[in-house]
Amino acid sequence: MRIFNTMGRKLQEFIPVHKGEVRIYSCGPTVYAMPHIGNFRTFFLTDIIHRYFEYKGYKVTLVMNITDIDDKTIRGSEAAGMTLKEFTDKYTKVFFDGLDALNILRADHYPRATETVPEMLDIIQHLLENGVAYIANGSVYFSIHKFPAYGKLSGMDLDALDHGHRVDSDEYEKDAPGDFALWKAATPDELRRGIFFEAPWGKGRPGWHIECSAMGPKYLGSPLDIHIGGVDLIFPHHENEIAQFEAAYGKKFVNYWVHGEHLVVNGRKMSKSKGNYFTLNDLLKKYTYNEIRYLFLSTHYRDKLNYTEKAMQNAAKGAAKLELALQNLDFFIANAKEGESDSGFLATAKQRRREFEEAMDGDFNTPKALRVIHELVSDIYKYAGKEKGTLETARSTLLLMLHTFGLFEKEGESSQLPAELIKEIHEREAARAAKDWAKADAIRSKLKEKGILLDDFPEGTRWRRA
Ligand SMILES: [Zn+2]
Repeated sequence: MRIFNTMGRKLQEFIPVHKGEVRIYSCGPTVYAMPHIGNFRTFFLTDIIHRYFEYKGYKVTLVMNITDIDDKTIRGSEAAGMTLKEFTDKYTKVFFDGLDALNILRADHYPRATETVPEMLDIIQHLLENGVAYIANGSVYFSIHKFPAYGKLSGMDLDALDHGHRVDSDEYEKDAPGDFALWKAATPDELRRGIFFEAPWGKGRPGWHIECSAMGPKYLGSPLDIHIGGVDLIFPHHENEIAQFEAAYGKKFVNYWVHGEHLVVNGRKMSKSKGNYFTLNDLLKKYTYNEIRYLFLSTHYRDKLNYTEKAMQNAAKGAAKLELALQNLDFFIANAKEGESDSGFLATAKQRRREFEEAMDGDFNTPKALRVIHELVSDIYKYAGKEKGTLETARSTLLLMLHTFGLFEKEGESSQLPAELIKEIHEREAARAAKDWAKADAIRSKLKEKGILLDDFPEGTRWRRA
């Protein structure tokens, strides 16, 4: 498998730290608002990588953090008149509901920042001892000039940072503009609301970047195999994650850095003021999870995904074709003759599976793999009406690919019709064979009322949902 590593910016063969296992960390949500669809594109990328490694037989351990304490959650909870915990619990639930709605597999651990403070304090303590951090007015800062490797991920140069724009508002107490907070001293408001932790250098709360440096290695050891996030996190967030961990412990933090590109809407960055801002719930009112997943799959993760109404409709059409294929395949199998399996067709199905793997092994090329799935579908249509066992094997191959992409695998949406409807279709078949057109038409109308449309083909009748 080859993965494009942001560290070094090149495709690299994937070699796990522990044979047969892959340990993945993915930056999670800040739970303060309804997540937009761009956020879910990154969580979806994590899901595809998770699922594909499982397909390859790896034991996957996945960790995703929940940022439940930062400026946005503290401000948001104050404005909502809720405690920080009530407020972040509410949006943590929204996040999990979104994962479930999109059929995203759960991670093994979702550590909350507020529950991982001791590990963060340990890093800060080490950084202070190593002389890489300093205390100013009860806050603790990382001194980027004391860590020579600073900038190795993003290519950011320190001189530019020294003379660049102001990085954040507490800059006045820092030694250099690029230094960043490891610990923020509690403000009077935070003290009043009880939002603080005790530390040897005073009451306060951890900076955002240090969460991930603490949580990844806590559950996954170091170096962890793969760290995933959106491209907007390369700098400063991921650069800082590396600096904190490696300067504290003198060990490598991460082997492979994977970054997903943005989702833009009608070619422009999503923004509430431009009216092109969509939450996942907005989308789920109009589209199924299969259609949304199909949209995400149809663009490679390192390319910008341009969300347009037309792109969404194309995705819906693509998903519908696959769903219809599954329904038809069931029908072909139900009507096929048993006989000797067709080695020629089985070889074709095997070849498609190899092509699917080649696409995914090449830096998770989902659009290419999706095309392979459609090719397998057209192979199957050409084989319709032939040997049963061969068709069943082809269905297993197709389902394996679809399920690796998390498509058409939820309970209750099986492509099978209820048995009584299948029976009616068979009765109509019999009526047609007996040239009893009146009866055949009556059954057709009855099924139509139930939302099932029938198409007659030489090899038999196929059904589809209206
Ligand atoms: Zn992170």
